[in-house]
Amino acid sequence: MTRITYSPKVFIPLTQLCRDACGYCTFARPPARLASPYLAPDEVVRIARRGAESGCHEALFTLGERPEERYADARAWLALHGYASTVDYLVAMCRLVIAETGLLPHANAGALHHDELAALRPVTASQGMMIETLRADLRCHHGAPDKTPARRLATLEAAGRLAIPFTTGILVGIGEDRSDRIVALEAIAGAHERHGHVQEVIVQNFLPKPGTAMQAWPPCPPDALLDAIALARDILPATVHVQAPPNLSDDLVPLLDAGIDDFGGISPVTIDHVNPERAWPEVERLRAVCHGHGDTLVPRLTVYPEFALDAPRWLDEALRFPVLDRSDAEGLARDDPGTLLPQRTAEIAQPRDGAEVAVVGRRSTIWCSGGSIDPPRLLPGTPRTGGPVGEILQGVDAGQEPGIEELTTLFSARGPEVAAVAEFADALRAEAVGDVVTFVKNRNINYTNICTFKCRFCGFAKGPLGLNLRGKPYLLDMDVIAERARAAWEAGATEVCLQGGIHPQFDGEYYLAVCRAVKAAAPDIHVHAFTALEVTEGARRLGEPLEKYLGRLKDAGLRSLPGTAAEILDDPVRRILCPDKVTTEQWLECHRAAHRVGLASNVTMMFGSVEQPVSWARHLVCTRDLQKETGGFTEFVGLPFVHMASPIYLTRQARRGPTFREVVLVHAVARIAYRGLIDNVQASWVKIGLRGAEQLLIGGANDLGGTLMDENISRAAGAEHGQCLDEQGLEALATRLGRRLEQRTTLYGRRAALV
Ligand code: SF4
Repeated sequence: MTRITYSPKVFIPLTQLCRDACGYCTFARPPARLASPYLAPDEVVRIARRGAESGCHEALFTLGERPEERYADARAWLALHGYASTVDYLVAMCRLVIAETGLLPHANAGALHHDELAALRPVTASQGMMIETLRADLRCHHGAPDKTPARRLATLEAAGRLAIPFTTGILVGIGEDRSDRIVALEAIAGAHERHGHVQEVIVQNFLPKPGTAMQAWPPCPPDALLDAIALARDILPATVHVQAPPNLSDDLVPLLDAGIDDFGGISPVTIDHVNPERAWPEVERLRAVCHGHGDTLVPRLTVYPEFALDAPRWLDEALRFPVLDRSDAEGLARDDPGTLLPQRTAEIAQPRDGAEVAVVGRRSTIWCSGGSIDPPRLLPGTPRTGGPVGEILQGVDAGQEPGIEELTTLFSARGPEVAAVAEFADALRAEAVGDVVTFVKNRNINYTNICTFKCRFCGFAKGPLGLNLRGKPYLLDMDVIAERARAAWEAGATEVCLQGGIHPQFDGEYYLAVCRAVKAAAPDIHVHAFTALEVTEGARRLGEPLEKYLGRLKDAGLRSLPGTAAEILDDPVRRILCPDKVTTEQWLECHRAAHRVGLASNVTMMFGSVEQPVSWARHLVCTRDLQKETGGFTEFVGLPFVHMASPIYLTRQARRGPTFREVVLVHAVARIAYRGLIDNVQASWVKIGLRGAEQLLIGGANDLGGTLMDENISRAAGAEHGQCLDEQGLEALATRLGRRLEQRTTLYGRRAALV
């Protein structure tokens, strides 16, 4: 299916005064017809808030050109409020909207000089100005000094030199002809060739408006519009998106046939102030039109993904986090419904063992992993495929093994494709493990939160060498660990999961002592313990070969390794997330060695922070390759990044976890990738809640993980789901799905044959 994008936006007409007088325009008005020359800051914020509350991502500032050069009222208002110019005021309002709502401003301020565009760059994610036409002799522009071809081209060029993601376009039917449109489109293509900055070109049809000089003109014939769209698609590089405003055409299918791939900004709360007589179409109508055409409608940010993902080049530093905060892994807009507001946090004065920052102020209502808001219902859905996603599923069905490219394509599924991928994965789940939902009764023991490592996502580690210096460092005594293991066994747990920070005083003997202490306290409990980092460090600090050390741990009682410390097994991403941790190869080598000595392990993947889907695909493929070699992995556990108290999020360098669509896809695609190799896919209810887990269980997952008495790590990152879940809760969930709940051992044996 082809993606057709649109930008959920709120329209802010900062001023309707304009020094130009174009023959087709009803937007510009004289001061006498306006209550105030400019919208006041509180009005701007009020409009933007309504947009944010309605799920918008963009604040579109549209305004007349340089009104202060024509109207004394404009000059007086600006002077009274302390602004040197309209652009000066626009800069301040963009900044205010970002701070108050997090919406991403896009400024349509007309023909601007280099310094004006530069002033707007730190407060806008993108800017725009229609070229309209390069004909200098059109009557409609006689009263418009800013509409000369030279002014328009100079603005386009300056935006390119400043690396501003730029939207431009042509007006069709204002007196120009086909050859003029070609000239304008070629000029835009030329500017893009020089600077690479044109993100989209709007092809807009002229419609006469009552009360304008051109009211008696014929509207742009549909054929001319469609021809202009086809010309744009032909002349512009394939990377430049082509848009036609959907409220200016009655029939949208021909626009798609002609080659548009974007419907531009659609506002759920404000009218199109430039074409107030033409209402925005409902998003659901657009979705249905796209669906009927074999396409899928996808929300985007005002800045297109190609630019958002190359932020150092295209975005001012001040805008990088606001863009990241609204992005999904592909640089498109987060598509979970609800309000997304900037997160404000406060330190908790006396933290206990959980998160040490609290989210304060107005809360977002959008779902995020670890949060208390239920995810949207994506499954069951109405599956539909076509295009590359469908072809890959057909290939897998025929027995082909999907590689990195194919898995990345599956991660790009949108709309009904998501249900198709999930349904396919669910069938593979039934084939592999039947209709049983499993869980393990276990207890987490995190023996220390003191750590010498500097993983930038980790809100758990404390101590003098940790990134996060707040909170109380602790180290449990060995007898406390033993007592907790004994209590867990007596409460019916069959597993203790032991992990912790890398304490500066630990050497490999510590981990051996932990195993012995646990086994002495609860001889039959399964010891599932120590990350690849812990055992690699333990062996290194003892100066002992890793495999030999793992063998000694096994002799001391260790039975399996958790797959944590994997994060994302893609080194460029690891260099950002955890630069001093084991590399991909070291993680794999550690698990290879563990499998060789007879210790099982699992694959975990933390996703949704800074990486893109290709990294998820690399992670799945390299662990799949190891599984082919050793067969030692028992399960895949997807760990959605919990952002709230994570240092990398608090320092504004990560997204706020995956979207729920991404969570669904990671579990479904993992099931597909590991087909015939790893039979178990776990839904981590700690991070996604039971309602999230319920959907994953019909999208490829078969296991609910542990009942987890004491789970500190997700809570330290801000997760709000409980610390322990009882069997009844899991039973009710499985029953709702018509499945049978079974308690399993760590290695997926059944309760009767424990350990
Ligand atoms: S993730 Fe583990 S190794 Fe990294 S800082 Fe946190 S506790 Fe230390």
